[in-house]
Amino acid sequence: MGIFIKIILILIVLYYLYKFLGGEFKLPKKKSSSIDDNDENTLVECCKCEVYITQKEAVKKGKCYYCQECKEEI
Ligand SMILES: [Zn+2]
Repeated sequence: MGIFIKIILILIVLYYLYKFLGGEFKLPKKKSSSIDDNDENTLVECCKCEVYITQKEAVKKGKCYYCQECKEEI
């Protein structure tokens, strides 16, 4: 009986260590950063000169995206 209780206690400690060190800290950051990367790398078309640019570089106005050159002429 003593050995089984020790193993269960060690598993509980390991579980809480994993939850505090691995589960809580890393997962939320990984999720949000990967979503941001996907958005930034999506190609969109400039409504004025029809050039393709990444969403990170594009300027959104209404339903349209504009490139850096066209945004000053809007
Ligand atoms: Zn443009």
